[in-house]
Amino acid sequence: MIYLDYQATTPLAPEAAAAMRPWLDEKYANPHSPSREGREAAAAIEVARKQVEQAIGLSGGSLAFTGSATEAINWAIKGTVEKAPPTRNRLVTVRTEHAAVLDTCEWLQARGIDVTYLPVGSDGLVNLTDVEAALDESVALVAVMLVNNEIGVIQPVGEIAKLAHEAGALMLCDAVQALGRVPIAEGPDLVAVSGHKIHGPKGIGALWMRKGAEPAPLIHGGGQERGLRSGTLSPALAVGFGAAAKIASQSFDRDHDHIERLWKAALETLGPEWIVNGSVDERYRGNLNIRREGVDAARLISDLRDIAFSLGSACASGSGRPSHVLRAIGLSDREARSSIRLGFGRYTGEQELVTAMRRIDEAAKAQERFAA
Ligand code: PLP
Repeated sequence: MIYLDYQATTPLAPEAAAAMRPWLDEKYANPHSPSREGREAAAAIEVARKQVEQAIGLSGGSLAFTGSATEAINWAIKGTVEKAPPTRNRLVTVRTEHAAVLDTCEWLQARGIDVTYLPVGSDGLVNLTDVEAALDESVALVAVMLVNNEIGVIQPVGEIAKLAHEAGALMLCDAVQALGRVPIAEGPDLVAVSGHKIHGPKGIGALWMRKGAEPAPLIHGGGQERGLRSGTLSPALAVGFGAAAKIASQSFDRDHDHIERLWKAALETLGPEWIVNGSVDERYRGNLNIRREGVDAARLISDLRDIAFSLGSACASGSGRPSHVLRAIGLSDREARSSIRLGFGRYTGEQELVTAMRRIDEAAKAQERFAA
């Protein structure tokens, strides 16, 4: 199998798997227990916390572990609204956000919170003038992702955070697809990340919080994570996330150069009939979302079962709904249905990528011949 679905999830780094092993086998103490073994587990979690904080790279805050980035995002949005003064009862976000943001906003909308959904251009980027126009003293939080999970475009979150602060609002950045891949700009007050998108384990995420911007807790109980997020932490998952974050920091430049080479090789192999969806320049290039006139992308995926790739978004795949992101950049339903998402990264070989691109291109041409 050639794995080209790095936006859906990434393979576990061997170093992360090795770091987790003892915490799955002999080291099973509860990290919140005062026993010697418990304190050892708690210390390992603190090392992991620092490793993830360093990979995020922002100053003036700290993070709490969560069960997923989806939880971190729910917590950030609902907990900020909960803490905000009653006059700040509006959220500002973008139409191309992940469902974790959009569905949470919709849930709050049904409970009386106003939400402004900003449009994007055909390049997938939000316009700063639109952001500025949407902001006033009624806004509690602005939620904008850094790297889009479907089309890989990079939003100007640093500038957006500045505008949010000028209006007295907080800024949440969903950096799930950005961590370890592109630098996270200073500015956001809250940053959501996920272990399994950076070669760490599934089932763990984190919310980085600027000091003073901590949202009200979403999960109540034993008072773990400074009383902000109750529940027994898994040392194995935290240590695995930490190890993956450490490698992501150390191999940032190497991974970047490797991905640039892969991107170039992929485009050269595919040829000019394939069009890149969204900005080519303001983009994380381990995401290649492309379309080709007349292609049935769902059929392409079922014709090429030994290559793992995606329709617009893994989350929307199979739902039959055209991707909300491809629609937001102005693609017709037909163009959206001709679009595929290829994701590659650290463990993708150039030769296997070229082989996959050739086979995808041939399968698309075969569809064309069949239709003629
Ligand atoms: N945000 C983005 C941009 C994502 O790509 C994903 C996962 O697909 C999430 C949030 C949710 O992350 P998790 O799987 O940790 O809940």
